[in-house]
Amino acid sequence: MVDTPRSLKPLIRAAAEAVIAHADELTDLDRAIGDGDHGINMKRGAEAVLAEIDLIAAKPMPDALKAIGMALVMKVGGASGPLYGSLLLGMGKAWGDGGMDRAALAASFAAGVDAVKARGKSDRGQKTMLDVLIPVLEDLRETGDAAGLREAAAVACAATRDMKAERGRASFLGERSIGHVDPGARSSSLMIGAICDALGGTS
Ligand code: ADP
Ligand code: MG
Repeated sequence: MVDTPRSLKPLIRAAAEAVIAHADELTDLDRAIGDGDHGINMKRGAEAVLAEIDLIAAKPMPDALKAIGMALVMKVGGASGPLYGSLLLGMGKAWGDGGMDRAALAASFAAGVDAVKARGKSDRGQKTMLDVLIPVLEDLRETGDAAGLREAAAVACAATRDMKAERGRASFLGERSIGHVDPGARSSSLMIGAICDALGGTS
């Protein structure tokens, strides 16, 4: 069960380090159906968050989430920076007064996903990060088992391969976007997988 971690720090570190370790893979995916900068963009954001990790992790949860969101907006750039920024800012704004149980996390994550949808004028089925974020949200609402969430993210990410892009740069390719995993779906899956692994050790 996804439950209250003692500290946010290992979760932030796990997500950031996963992005940095897989930056080349993300860039290769974006080279196939975009402009080849997703890994570079995300790595820049991850390094900025790691540079402030002590400051961020010392904040109360809503402020920590907002600080990560701001760092992503400022540093990642491209389409994905404002979108991941919206996710984290949306989560921070919706975070209630209580602790971090699964229901609180799911409510906050739902608000973050809504913020991405609003920002991107996008929804499920358009071959974007939302094709990972939305199935993960559904899984989080239903069960919230860390290993299950990790698997849901990986399966949803792989499923973007057969989709036709309808948002972002990849949409310019039309049918030719089919046959490639979406870079933003992969970065989402990577970060969620890393966070689930880190949670698995603490729950
Ligand atoms: P850019 O496309 O500006 O180069 P990135 O390469 O960093 O930005 O990010 C591309 C990713 O952003 C895509 O793979 C997709 O997952 C996501 N994305 C792009 N546009 C949208 C949108 N409107 N809604 C949701 N996600 C989007
Ligand atoms: Mg790009």
